[in-house]
Amino acid sequence: TSSTVDSCYFKDLCNKVTNKDGNYICIPYTISNEIDIVLSIVTLNQEECSAVHKLIPLIQDYIDAAKPEIVSKKMTQILEMSARTDTLTGLFNRKYLEESINRIIKEEQRLNISYGILLADIDHFKIVNDTHGHLVGDEILKKLVKYCKSNIRKTDFFARWGGEEFIVLLKSSNIKQANKIANELRQYIQSHNFPHSLKITCSFGVTEFKVSDTQIGIFKRVDEALYEAKESGRNKVCIK
Ligand code: GH3
Ligand code: MG
Ligand code: MG
Repeated sequence: TSSTVDSCYFKDLCNKVTNKDGNYICIPYTISNEIDIVLSIVTLNQEECSAVHKLIPLIQDYIDAAKPEIVSKKMTQILEMSARTDTLTGLFNRKYLEESINRIIKEEQRLNISYGILLADIDHFKIVNDTHGHLVGDEILKKLVKYCKSNIRKTDFFARWGGEEFIVLLKSSNIKQANKIANELRQYIQSHNFPHSLKITCSFGVTEFKVSDTQIGIFKRVDEALYEAKESGRNKVCIK
């Protein structure tokens, strides 16, 4: 609304608030041309609410003083996000995956979280590009990502490994579960239409994190599994 929403005056005005017992005041502030924020203060009772009303001028001073810092934090966030994102698909890029994997391996060892890994590569994608053009190829890549996203969990780490190659780290999955998911994805891709009613297939390499695995070891294993899937006929899942 671009104006203050105060439940002390209007009850149940904001549909974003789930706790209906307390009071809330939501105050919008313009920080810069690009950044607007809404400060939400939730109070337990009327007394607290009145106390907050008295503090509002102080809060305004505080926000004014903090504006440069907020802008700089936000800009840093935007830069970090763009450095880790693949522009075509919006997925994490390979650089970010490589930076993250050591942390994920440590987490796996410390918390005993297992990971299944799958590497997917579109079959004969060069022919699709050569026949229908690069733009159609790009549309297919985006659609493929959409299809894959709808078949994996939000907690899985999904990244673009290279041109038409994608990698998924499946959290809390072993090789058997990863194999099952890869086969489901493979069938889903094979049976769905892509832009311009094109059909494509994918080959998959599948592995899992093993105790004392290294980054190089994991990537080598999954790559070998994918190579085997390609060599043995494509539109296949191979595990290693
Ligand atoms: P294979 O079954 O052996 O994987 O055959 P392939 O043709 O898919 O493999 P190859 O590695 O020879 O070719 C990959 C192609 O992927 C080449 C390139 O035109 C295409 N490609 C890579 N990145 C992009 C992209 O960002 N957009 C589009 N449209 N095509 C891309
Ligand atoms: Mg490839
Ligand atoms: Mg390919």
